[in-house]
Amino acid sequence: MCIALEWVKKGIMVMIRLQRTIKNIVSCEGIGLHTGKPVHIVLKPAPVDTGVVFVRTDLDGEEIAASTANTAETSYATTLSKNGAFVKTVEHLLAAFAGLNIDNVIIEIDSEEVPIMDGSARPFIRLITDACIQTQVKFQPVLKVIEPIFVREGNKQIAIWPADSPGISYFIDFNHPMLKEQSLQYHPSEEAFLREVVDARTFGFLRDVQTLLANGLAKGGSMNNAVVLGENTVLNKEGLRYNDEFVRHKILDLIGDFSLVGMPIIGHIVAHKSGHALNAQMVSKLMNSPQHWVLVGSPKEAPVKRQEMQYQHAAL
Ligand SMILES: [Zn+2]
Repeated sequence: MCIALEWVKKGIMVMIRLQRTIKNIVSCEGIGLHTGKPVHIVLKPAPVDTGVVFVRTDLDGEEIAASTANTAETSYATTLSKNGAFVKTVEHLLAAFAGLNIDNVIIEIDSEEVPIMDGSARPFIRLITDACIQTQVKFQPVLKVIEPIFVREGNKQIAIWPADSPGISYFIDFNHPMLKEQSLQYHPSEEAFLREVVDARTFGFLRDVQTLLANGLAKGGSMNNAVVLGENTVLNKEGLRYNDEFVRHKILDLIGDFSLVGMPIIGHIVAHKSGHALNAQMVSKLMNSPQHWVLVGSPKEAPVKRQEMQYQHAAL
């Protein structure tokens, strides 16, 4: 029986789309949030099934694929590593690719940390928009969760529930008057990404700055690239970009961290007080629990005619 007929027999419908890359080479520069080092990145188109791959041009072109297998460090940011080479704070750039459904891209980088830019994904979206999006000639498989899956650490937890479309519900509850019990339900689409999360900046607490600096972190941090919270208020003169910018940024981080799966996830992700470490735990558990999901959209699908972005229904 062909794969499509097997899907029909199971009676589940899932949206399948063509893979995408960028059309032109684009670049930008900035500083790393944690290292404070200047860095230059160049985004280049990549063939189908490449995925997102970092190339450390300052280390003889060491390649580090954006995949859960290369996740190395997850405190305060997500770091990828391979053969001793690192790329730090990848999550906002990865979220930009995931948010615009860019599957294949090469990122040349001449230092160890992705530039923080303004602390959000907006500057990367501008870069990708300048590069133009190119639809490719192969379908992008998706991972459809069919059995609930959970991770928990103390009072932090993530669940992924089977659903017919992607969804993220996020709850935060920090010990700070401005961050108590913020929550948001997010229904992923390119439009929702650009409207609801792309401008949300990373944030930190003034009370933590000395500790972060003492631990060699946040050396490039400033109110130009982060929302800084004082005891009762936001210290940035311009204020917030959304009333609930904090939970929106946590969703942005989750989108970037979960993109390390390497394909879109169909399921409802419910995150409670999560962060990079628990996100990484869930992604790892998901990849190691194939009984909880099915792949939809076989990589063996015949190539289709090049065309502009066309969503197609594939029955699972
Ligand atoms: Zn972030």
